[in-house]
Amino acid sequence: MTGVVCTPLYAEWVVLRGKLTTAPVRTGRSRGSPLGGPVLVAGVAGALVDGIAPGDLVVATEVWSAGNEGGDGRRATAGAPAGAVGAAVSGAVVSRAAVLVAGELRRRGFTVHLGPVVTAGRVVDSAGERAALAARGAVAVDTESALLAADDGQTVVVRAVVDNPTHPLRGLGMPRRGVRALRELRRTADVIDTWSAATGERELLLAGPRSFCAGVERAIDTVEQALRRFGVPVYVRRQIVHNRHVVSDLERRGAIFVEEAGEVPEGGLLVLAAHGVAPAVRTQAAERHLRVIDATCPLVAKVHQEVRRYADRGSTVVLIGHADHEEVIGTTGEAPDHVLVVSNPAEAETIHVPDPGNVAYAMQTTLAVDEAAETVDVLRRRFPALDGPRKDDICYATTNRQQAVRTIAAESELVIVLGSQNSSNSRRLAEVAEAAGTPAILIDDAGELPLDRLAGVTRIGITAGASAPPALVDNLISCLSGLGPVTVTESGTGTEDVRFALPKEVTQP
Ligand code: SF4
Repeated sequence: MTGVVCTPLYAEWVVLRGKLTTAPVRTGRSRGSPLGGPVLVAGVAGALVDGIAPGDLVVATEVWSAGNEGGDGRRATAGAPAGAVGAAVSGAVVSRAAVLVAGELRRRGFTVHLGPVVTAGRVVDSAGERAALAARGAVAVDTESALLAADDGQTVVVRAVVDNPTHPLRGLGMPRRGVRALRELRRTADVIDTWSAATGERELLLAGPRSFCAGVERAIDTVEQALRRFGVPVYVRRQIVHNRHVVSDLERRGAIFVEEAGEVPEGGLLVLAAHGVAPAVRTQAAERHLRVIDATCPLVAKVHQEVRRYADRGSTVVLIGHADHEEVIGTTGEAPDHVLVVSNPAEAETIHVPDPGNVAYAMQTTLAVDEAAETVDVLRRRFPALDGPRKDDICYATTNRQQAVRTIAAESELVIVLGSQNSSNSRRLAEVAEAAGTPAILIDDAGELPLDRLAGVTRIGITAGASAPPALVDNLISCLSGLGPVTVTESGTGTEDVRFALPKEVTQP
């Protein structure tokens, strides 16, 4: 299946016909029934707000019909007064793949706005009518999209903007703006081709477990409770967990993220992130008389304890992990004179220790299980008296998610991992999938998904790092269903029932 491209106006058809792999269909606005299946409507439109400039692109999240003003009125609202565009809108048709197409356009340098596009039965050029449509939340108006959009969520509408309230349709410079909009439309041809190649029926395999772990839930709950209990400002040192969406959501609710405790006003309230901190950070907080709430994951705190114990008895502690990761920086800070960081078996082969008979090891909690085991094997061979934790330090959530992604990778042509680039466990999930022989991509959200990676791919595995909200997975599935019908299969390996109690500062009176 490849998507169908529709260009309602002759001028729109002309600018795209020689540029697309498959010629667009010129529809006019006389169509009697919507199309259905993956359809992309490409054309020009008028913006309803000044924040959208002529030459920008609008991608419709929904397509609405304006009140019945004498046009086609296929979706017109009953009872809307004739001639009054904007008196009512109706027939919202959701475009599920809008975010995917908008993301692709943005990556190619276009200025793109997402929002509802409203279709009127005639050209709407009165400022009053346009203001009425804008007041309802629409961002652009055209005369055809609602006539073509089916209710299956698979219609995408891409419109190049000709005019806006400051530069009205009948204002000076209109021909120049029209030409510019058509040029921009022509430049979208590559993206439209990419969208078309990405359309099709698919099976989606969901890894289970995926997404939030107990430590991340505890850290987020801690900040939320602190905001509820103490009000703003609540300061948080660094990202509470390594996820952009989590951080911006908490910011919206009033949390203030700082790099160091020194940025918090004397006596302020500071939450420490899930990855843990070096003792020096607590000292700095104490010097500023900060009220500290520690959201360090208990499983990270356990590794800190191990390192302190080994160091106290004079051992060299080989900390297996990534030296620039905040968790490793924090753990190293427990005994900087005793800790040596190695990240892989090769580094373990060459490390020098003062006393090979007195060496212990500890681990970052979010490593790739297999590689960490190889690193321990090297250390054990080189230092036969090596001491270490009874069970390795890689946490249950990391282990379970890696096992789950390995399972879906075996049955998928592509694995999509939702998570931020600075999330260690998310990166490891992509690596584990690739090690299993399946290409993988790590993206923060559906808007970052490169559409060209979907061409010809019919089975996609999906997982999310321990710091990525579950809603991102739901949203990705919805977006993919905008490219064609999807079958969703849960590939579960059991549920997780681990829960950690919140810090007493946010629970006790
Ligand atoms: Fe804790 Fe593991 Fe989650 Fe990190 S990934 S916060 S160590 S449970």
